[in-house]
Amino acid sequence: MIQCVKCQSENTADLEKCQECGTDLLPGEGLADRLSYIVYGIVGGVLSGIGAYFLIQSEIELPECLLISPQLCLLATIGLPIMGIASALRKTPLYQRYATRARRHIELDPEQAIADFSQALELAPEKEQAGLLKERAELYGKLGMEEEATRDELDYTSTEGAYSGGRGIARFFGADDDVYAADRGEDDRKAMVAAGRVKALGYCSKCARVVELNPKLRCPDHASPKPKAVRFVLPDEVEAAIPEVLNEYTKESRTKRNVAIIAGLVVGGPLLCCLLTYAIGRLRFPTTQATATVSPIPVVSSPSPTQEITSTPEPTILVPSPTSVTGGDFTDASIMSTGWLQDGSLLVTLHIPSGVEGIYHAVVGGNEFTCDILEEYPDRLYCHGKGVKSGTQVGASWYQEGIELPVYETVFTVP
Ligand SMILES: [Zn+2]
Ligand SMILES: [Zn+2]
Repeated sequence: MIQCVKCQSENTADLEKCQECGTDLLPGEGLADRLSYIVYGIVGGVLSGIGAYFLIQSEIELPECLLISPQLCLLATIGLPIMGIASALRKTPLYQRYATRARRHIELDPEQAIADFSQALELAPEKEQAGLLKERAELYGKLGMEEEATRDELDYTSTEGAYSGGRGIARFFGADDDVYAADRGEDDRKAMVAAGRVKALGYCSKCARVVELNPKLRCPDHASPKPKAVRFVLPDEVEAAIPEVLNEYTKESRTKRNVAIIAGLVVGGPLLCCLLTYAIGRLRFPTTQATATVSPIPVVSSPSPTQEITSTPEPTILVPSPTSVTGGDFTDASIMSTGWLQDGSLLVTLHIPSGVEGIYHAVVGGNEFTCDILEEYPDRLYCHGKGVKSGTQVGASWYQEGIELPVYETVFTVP
């Protein structure tokens, strides 16, 4: 129910005007409020003027990090009264009308207050939302609606205009107030996780899945690396949020990979060119010097006078080998096929176009998989293991023996 400001009669929430006296049920600011803006503006202006006068008279050297300067005070002397008058004359924004009505109904009709706060939040510009969220959270708390209160408090920690008081102080001392607000927000979220009111989720690349993080926002089993795609949810939203976090992680790693590929092309193209010219240069040099030596290997059988020259130099070493030293280049790797083996284990075949060498293992959905390279397919890794459920989406990482970081990571749906 909405109470009329003028005649105090009760009206249903769908009415725009009081059914008794016809007064607007969503009024703008009254005369008293508007006058107070002008008074504040003038008082502020006078105080700034006095401040400017003293600063100029005393010639005090102020530390540079402080925001106060005679110029700024002079500006405020003129600016504050103008701002006051402008605020007094403006049309009250709709979100503010809802917020004012909400505050008036906190005691009268809390439900109406919640509805009005929600309406105000929907209409308010982002910078103004923080304060409204805080007020609504407080009201939810008072009504014993813990879940709703927690959600508002959580949203508050990452809203643009949050921690305005501390922000002002940070700015006054020349600090970056955005950094300050981000730090405060993170501290508050950590505290909410520690209290068990909020759960933190993130993708741990060592577990190869989305895990519930501890209050330090790390995987409970692995202190490093830092979990990716971290997200905060209410305890009963965890299950629904896990696939979303996984999706977010895949999206993030895909853009990261694209950036890496582009960077690789930009840096790698000219580098490859340099290497090629260098290799060709080196190739050409010995061949011109010892032309006779490259071809006559079969000549060895026949004892001829040329043999003496051929046996001494060994230019064949200079021919560069095409295989890379690291065991494989995984930039173009992709899953070639997946399928079930007769013993119930899953076979994942990874295709590495440029070939692969060495010993590998994989972690698929948190399960250890062993990998083999078959002689006739030197560009494939056949990895198999158990414990993965059919129809689920899992993260998979490939590791080379002795190297901690995965050589390749992806997400796929188990057949
Ligand atoms: Zn009325
Ligand atoms: Zn982990």
